[in-house]
Amino acid sequence: SALVLKDPDLLRAQAYVNGRWIDANDRRVIEVVNPADGQRVGTVPLMGAAETRAAIDAARDAWPAWRAKTARERAVILRRWFDALIEHADDLARIMTSEQGKPLAEAKGEIVYAASFIEWFAEEGKRTYGDTIPTPANDRRIIVVKEPIGVCAAITPWNFPAAMITRKVGPALAAGCTMVVKPAEATPLTALALAVLAERVGLPAGVLNLVTGDPREIGRELTSNPDVRKLTFTGSTQTGRILMEQCAPTIKKLSLELGGNAPFIVFDDADLDAAVDGAIASKFRNVGQTCVCANRIYVHDAVYDAFAEKLARAVAALKVGNGTDAGVVQGPLINEAAVRKVESHIDDALAQGARIVTGGKRHALGHGFFEPTVLTGVTQTMRVAKEETFGPLAPLFRFHSDAEVIQMANDTEFGLASYFYSRDIGRIWRVAEALEYGMVGINTGLISNEVAPFGGVKQSGVGREGSHYGIEDYLVVKYLCLGGL
Ligand code: ADP
Repeated sequence: SALVLKDPDLLRAQAYVNGRWIDANDRRVIEVVNPADGQRVGTVPLMGAAETRAAIDAARDAWPAWRAKTARERAVILRRWFDALIEHADDLARIMTSEQGKPLAEAKGEIVYAASFIEWFAEEGKRTYGDTIPTPANDRRIIVVKEPIGVCAAITPWNFPAAMITRKVGPALAAGCTMVVKPAEATPLTALALAVLAERVGLPAGVLNLVTGDPREIGRELTSNPDVRKLTFTGSTQTGRILMEQCAPTIKKLSLELGGNAPFIVFDDADLDAAVDGAIASKFRNVGQTCVCANRIYVHDAVYDAFAEKLARAVAALKVGNGTDAGVVQGPLINEAAVRKVESHIDDALAQGARIVTGGKRHALGHGFFEPTVLTGVTQTMRVAKEETFGPLAPLFRFHSDAEVIQMANDTEFGLASYFYSRDIGRIWRVAEALEYGMVGINTGLISNEVAPFGGVKQSGVGREGSHYGIEDYLVVKYLCLGGL
């Protein structure tokens, strides 16, 4: 079905640099495809290093005037951008569903979530307080101020085409930084629509630039150009490693939101129905394509069979289909490689003795569609225990004691989100403290919001996004020593 918008001007085929809508220098384009039917949604410029350099120059030149504004002046513009996102949420959701696949209601939810970062950081930009420090010598005073770091580069993934951008752009712009963003090649149209609205509400030229195209070429320029002071990236741990290495020669400040391998633990004292709801919310949101999705579900032996049965019933009832169809809660996976990864995790688990309780194969709808799946009899030696599936597969592991499950939960190089269900207050504290993760959801499967610090430990990344911690990533500390008093 064709993409029908109330405001067709939101759908663009050009990138946005220095306040202008432009093509690639050589006019080449990349296609954007709908993962639900393989149809072309649009095209965007296939840009490389030269266009990226121009965008960085624009951000550098726009920086002095943007940082010279008061936080309130910046907040007024950001607030108007927030309002514009909310006002156009339906159209933005349609664009997102057409290129990403998530159901319309979920896409609209993401727009509201994405907008919340702009609103939050517009306010928080007014509170980037420094310090005064008691002096060690009477002839001098010590003052600490926070300043915007400068031009920031952002590279973002396709699973949250809007929110992963605003979670970076919101704090960066509020703090007085300017930015060059490279959205994922699968989902650039949502990003460009955000820029249309930023332009409309009067964001000055060059403050926010969007380049689309070749990830490696654009990435090389963003990570090596000395005018870029900071890189903020959300994506796979492997790409994060490459970018971190590329940033080393110019010693850029880094924020990295990388992969996860979230444990979801159901203790024997859990409210099982609540745990099933939480597991569905955590595991099957965005068809399992989020870095905080439950990847390993550990269930105590005493409640294992009961939980498995309840979960399988709930999973079998999830409606799969095109995200524009009413009632659909499971859209297609982003591409064929994503489908193959889920298949390979299932094949590997079955070969090692796991059992399918529901689902287990490609969906009859074809394309990126996959049946929501529950596996039982899953163990720590299977691939699904070590790698993020990023798909609609819920593997159930069995455990017998708190110590055993904590050891299994922490047995991974990742440390992003974790979840557990228990009603025992002593156990809640002990387990929350023992989990080596940046985030712990206790009796809930949903933890992301703009007021809380999102981020990981271990190889899940560095830095925090959202909350008052999130703006610190875009600020540098300057120490003033005032002597001669
Ligand atoms: P995924 O496997 O989920 O696509 P990636 O980490 O590959 O995760 O992608 C996240 C973002 O990183 C996307 O915008 C993608 O284009 C970009 N990307 C991938 N590889 C590179 C690279 N070598 N240099 C710069 N950006 C990259």
